[in-house]
Amino acid sequence: MIFGKYGRVLGIVLAGGKGERLMPLTKYRAKPAVPFAAKYRIIDFALSNMVNSGLFSIYCLVQFKSQSLNEHIERGWQFGNALRGRDYFITAVPAQMWTGERWYEGTADAVFQNLHLITLFDADRICIFAADHIYKMDIEQMLQYHMDTKADVTIAANTVPASEAHAFGCMDTDPSGQVIKFVEKPKIPPQIPGKPGFSYVSMGNYIFERHVLEEAIIEDNKIETSSHDFGKDILPRIYNRCRVMAYDFKSNVLPGIDRPYWKDVGTIKAYHEAHMDLLQHPSDLTLYNPLWPIRTVSYSDPPGFTYPDKGQGCSVVGTLRAEGSRVLGAIVHRSVLSRNCVINAGAVLEECIVGQGVVIGENCKLRRVILDAYNVVPPNTVIGYNPEVDQKKYHVDPESGVVVLGMPKIQLRRNFG
Ligand code: ATP
Repeated sequence: MIFGKYGRVLGIVLAGGKGERLMPLTKYRAKPAVPFAAKYRIIDFALSNMVNSGLFSIYCLVQFKSQSLNEHIERGWQFGNALRGRDYFITAVPAQMWTGERWYEGTADAVFQNLHLITLFDADRICIFAADHIYKMDIEQMLQYHMDTKADVTIAANTVPASEAHAFGCMDTDPSGQVIKFVEKPKIPPQIPGKPGFSYVSMGNYIFERHVLEEAIIEDNKIETSSHDFGKDILPRIYNRCRVMAYDFKSNVLPGIDRPYWKDVGTIKAYHEAHMDLLQHPSDLTLYNPLWPIRTVSYSDPPGFTYPDKGQGCSVVGTLRAEGSRVLGAIVHRSVLSRNCVINAGAVLEECIVGQGVVIGENCKLRRVILDAYNVVPPNTVIGYNPEVDQKKYHVDPESGVVVLGMPKIQLRRNFG
């Protein structure tokens, strides 16, 4: 793609946020490195979309607690020798104080601090994408739309019911799709022309013409009151100065069995819901489309195993399982079992997300629990059946009621993230 009719296209993945709303899953790692769907990490979706679309020149701007994120990118996302070079790279870029002694202060500031990388790559246009969303999208189609409409900036737009749009950056568009207003989290969201009751919300994915990007973020850097954020500062300031187009995500067609699905998994509620969406069959979000694979690091784990231990029957239904997960005489319904976890005899799990290396003791009863990696749950533990008891002992997400057991102390864990 980068050598074709689109000119030189650079991918920038914004992966340097604090991820506070996803605590305690972000206590020891960056949000894009949070595990997802038994064997992936959240950033794998953004990176797979780029690579599947033929975009191979990617900088990931990283910052908070980025060790495991950096290692994941290094282990799983490198091109072989034959390809490695100026136009084929996926590189983690931490804040390096090029522009003063400060960290990335916002998404736009993160790009501002790396403007020299855009110059060195000699980019014509730049795809700036968030790292914390679960979705599948052919970026080449968005790029084609950007070129066809002669846009300066194109924003990927998801259609949601107007009643739900107030939580996002919202766009008002004319019938041609040109953005005539951009407001972050408005009380009364604008509706799509010809589609009453629905609004366009920004997915946090943008394509910029290089000169437009450079001018906008250099200007923004000089504004002291700015929070230096694309959604809050840059887009509301430029939509009436240059040609900003909304790209309808629902018009993006992937080969094979995929249907449009997008979710910002920045909160515990959304993170749990996205997993439950994945457990539907058929599901709008599928990991089984070989024509649009989600890629990740591969490990040499043993196969999964199910055994009717201690005379207890086994039942694993509607459940996603990674390599090395063992269910030994337990019942697991609508759950996610990550690599090398063990569910012991008599345990009953319902709508749980079980992290890598977790051990669930005998006769445990767990409902709607997220267990981060390496937790060991003693036999006979009951979680998720009595909110008052849970609140005294565990982290209960106030929005969804989901209980989260954060990762235990990290000192003894080699691959802690
Ligand atoms: P939270 O609001 O829960 O602390 P967050 O800091 O990640 O989360 P978001 O608005 O969810 O904020 O961030 C959207 C995307 O932009 C994420 O992929 C995040 O990693 C990235 N991002 C946020 N702030 C920065 C920054 N200062 N530098 C680089 N990337 C950032």
